[in-house]
Amino acid sequence: MTGDGEPCALVTGAARGIGREVALRLARDGYRVAGCFRQRGEDAARVERELADAGAKTFLQPCDVRDADAVNRFVTEAEDALGPITALVNNAGVTRDANTVMMSQEEWSTVLDTNLTGTWNVCRAVVFRMLKRRAGAVVNISSVAGVHGNAGQSNYAASKAGIIGLTKSLAKETARAGVRANVVAPGYIDTEMTSALPAKSQDKALAAIPLRRFGRPEDVAPLVAFLLSGESSYITGQVFAVDGGMVL
Ligand code: NDP
Repeated sequence: MTGDGEPCALVTGAARGIGREVALRLARDGYRVAGCFRQRGEDAARVERELADAGAKTFLQPCDVRDADAVNRFVTEAEDALGPITALVNNAGVTRDANTVMMSQEEWSTVLDTNLTGTWNVCRAVVFRMLKRRAGAVVNISSVAGVHGNAGQSNYAASKAGIIGLTKSLAKETARAGVRANVVAPGYIDTEMTSALPAKSQDKALAAIPLRRFGRPEDVAPLVAFLLSGESSYITGQVFAVDGGMVL
């Protein structure tokens, strides 16, 4: 296993949107970066080039976070390539919006399996290793929907609320061993996930944001970087909103 003392981050869902921006920010901060996504396409190729341009050593592979065996293999291979993972960002997520009574079993399960079980799968694999080394920091990406609920998103809100309970429990379990875990809960961030929403929903969302603009991935990445860094060494088990004041 390599390592050489450089910090090493694993970011799930790193091909685009918030995950891509977090991976790039961490690369600029001097991390080696492991990242996964569902499929290797143009987005993954682009982020691989961008990370290399930022000078980072990388390990980027498809890995479905819903598949615990695949996650364990991915984490082992990432550590073989880059050295011990010191920072984990569980960012991979999906939506399948529908009102609760109209929601299919498939829409419910896909979102819970990806967002909540996926986060748990990766936490189990990575935090086990962090505990043995008695060091590490985790940031799990939730959503304001997980804190306050959102009509038409009961599957998504439940998965994101679950991430908060998971993270707070993990923080209590791991603090003594020097491992911290926090939650970042973005509001409306301009990515492919939100650009798929109908114009009417986008207008309604904008009207509810006191800072009068949608967020950008660049608004989220600095907070994630801070929560992974030594500068936040006395902060664990907390939930931080990045939402332009949407929920006050
Ligand atoms: P995007 O849809 O832009 O990107 C999602 C990323 O997750 C993609 O790289 C995708 O892979 C990956 N992914 C999805 N499913 C899986 C899976 N099963 N296994 C591995 N990777 C997977 O999303 P955003 O950047 O908008 O969102 C990122 C996170 O932030 C999500 O958890 C989301 O819920 C959360 N969030 C987003 C908000 C927003 O307004 N955008 C608001 C609040 C929270 P691939 O590229 O291969 O498809």
